[in-house]
Amino acid sequence: MSYVPRLVDGVEVTPILDAVGPLGAGLRRPLTELFSGGSAEDWDVVGDGEWVLHFRCYLLRGPGRVVLVDAGIGGNDSPASTWAPVPGRLVQELAGVGVAPGDVDTVVLTHLHSDHASGAIGEGVPVFPNARHVIQRAEIEWIEGGGPSPTLERVVRPLTMLIDAVNGAAPVMPGVRVAPAPGHTPGHQVVEVGNVTLTGDLVVHPVQVVNPRVVYAHDEDSERAVESRRAVLDGVRARGGAIGTSHFAEPFTELG
Ligand SMILES: [Zn+2]
Repeated sequence: MSYVPRLVDGVEVTPILDAVGPLGAGLRRPLTELFSGGSAEDWDVVGDGEWVLHFRCYLLRGPGRVVLVDAGIGGNDSPASTWAPVPGRLVQELAGVGVAPGDVDTVVLTHLHSDHASGAIGEGVPVFPNARHVIQRAEIEWIEGGGPSPTLERVVRPLTMLIDAVNGAAPVMPGVRVAPAPGHTPGHQVVEVGNVTLTGDLVVHPVQVVNPRVVYAHDEDSERAVESRRAVLDGVRARGGAIGTSHFAEPFTELG
């Protein structure tokens, strides 16, 4: 598909659609069970029909730099394949905008859930072999502390040599930095590009923009997630900016 990049302070931000579909059968539940704490008025704003997720990564291009935010679902046998609707198309979609895997110099993983990280590995080896992979140290400690899991064994371990574990806010490229936003997972991070913040799963459904206190059933720590959500959304709003989300139908949501 064709993409319209958004130019932010000299950085070209291109949303790349990896997949579209509902949650897998085992995870599918009514929206009001997946999300708690919302009022009828909150749902009136956004609608509570079937949740069709978009799975989106973002490409950031500046002079001499190619950065990818999140790596998507991955192939047929990826750890996300047990629940994601379809395999990811990231590599083909990147080719469509003139980017080969070897061109990517940095991959930022907002967090280590399988629909954001699995596409970093294909057939057991790194898909983006020339990229450092920026992940919060707290996130790596969390996934390692959880014992053996498909994401640990089949994504994080094969990436080890390429991982750049950061503690807190850290620069990524001129005009771009990561900042911690824990709660969905302990080391979840967002990516700030000028007045645009790429949110990962800080918000997963538009109802959480309407009411940041709405809790998602798959948040690891719902109270921290609410705190992070309020802080990040308030900050973007104060700057008159926008968020770029992973799972909303539209890539950018203006908060200004
Ligand atoms: Zn997600």
